[in-house]
Amino acid sequence: MRSVATISENSAFDVARLRADFPILAERVYDKPLVFLDSAASAQKPQCVIDAVSHCYSREYANIHRGVYYLSERATQAYEDARVKVQRFINAASEREIIFTKSTTEAINLVAASYGGATLKEGDEIILSHLEHHANIVPWQLLRQRIGIEIKVVPIDERGNFLLEEFEKLLSPRTRLVAVSHTSNALGTITPAAEIVRLAHAQGTPVLLDGAQSVVHGPIDVQALDVDFFAFSGHKLYGPSGIGVLYGKADLLAAMPPYQGGGDMIKRVTFEKTEFADIPGRFEAGTPHIAGAYGFAAAIDYVSAIGMEAINAHERELLDYATARLQEINSLRFIGTADDKAGIVSFELDGVHAHDIGTILDREGIAVRVGHHCAQPLMDRFGITGTVRASFGLYNDKADIDALVRALGAVREIFG
Ligand code: PLP
Repeated sequence: MRSVATISENSAFDVARLRADFPILAERVYDKPLVFLDSAASAQKPQCVIDAVSHCYSREYANIHRGVYYLSERATQAYEDARVKVQRFINAASEREIIFTKSTTEAINLVAASYGGATLKEGDEIILSHLEHHANIVPWQLLRQRIGIEIKVVPIDERGNFLLEEFEKLLSPRTRLVAVSHTSNALGTITPAAEIVRLAHAQGTPVLLDGAQSVVHGPIDVQALDVDFFAFSGHKLYGPSGIGVLYGKADLLAAMPPYQGGGDMIKRVTFEKTEFADIPGRFEAGTPHIAGAYGFAAAIDYVSAIGMEAINAHERELLDYATARLQEINSLRFIGTADDKAGIVSFELDGVHAHDIGTILDREGIAVRVGHHCAQPLMDRFGITGTVRASFGLYNDKADIDALVRALGAVREIFG
């Protein structure tokens, strides 16, 4: 039973009521209440998102941008309305700056292939950080294979802080792009994005922020950040999987060649040549995730109604609580205690493999992520193969953390 005392003290934030919006949270696993602590991998969906996807398929589904009939026009309107919702949500200057992709991964691949392929040349440098998810490493390595760019990596300290002064040293007249995580999925570190952008812009270098984790934990204002590209996924923001966003400044996007060719991204095709559509259509070849856009729009409405500031405050409270309570576990070592962190805790237990911990927790109904979190270079940095990661969403409460601490206590008893 969840007692009132374990519900967030953030009184404006009624977590018990919000939990009721997520049908999956009422599920039992192995006959235990589900404790879901893996929202950084993918968040659960509120009923309004499920309903919006269902509404699309049951009442309004047709292909978009092509039909002259009622259903197609309705679906097209909803898809374009979703774009405007995304634009407002991250405060982009124009909806033309919002490209729907399938994910953060595709958004970064788009920038690497299109912007990188067209503007970088052999010997040019790009800067990543040691905190990156593989999605912000591998596309740049593919580009390196293609054209011979150099990849520089900003180090982090023992606590997982991004080292701004080291970044400054790596910036050189040959730096053509900076692509860094806004929030680390493995450690929760929030990077000093505004400073990174300021330093890079001071020498005319554009910046891509991998916002897959930052966009879910607090408000994002791409104009205030003055960032050039910003990538994120719908599924981490309580929306459907298979839809994501690349934000890009209009002048940059307008100068970039297409990433993929096909239907819906053209003005005129002959066998001799193709005239491409303007942005954003130029980067949306083929039939997109139409129902995903319905669900994504519903997710944005949902979190906006709660308020990203309120979600942020709630998750910070959970982070503080979890950090304090986990210290009760004998020989637990946090990996990542940066000065500024989102609602993610990563740790290891001396003498117990992370996968064993994950399996035991699973049997208690507790879902955490174990392993390298698609950040192997970061694990190498700490000389480990993986961690146990608990990540918090708007629906988590202190009872979830209490359950985690209890189960870890049991792990400690089993392994001594
Ligand atoms: N970047 C970060 C920081 C992430 O946490 C993730 C997913 O965990 C990704 C990129 C990739 O996101 P997706 O799998 O939705 O493309």
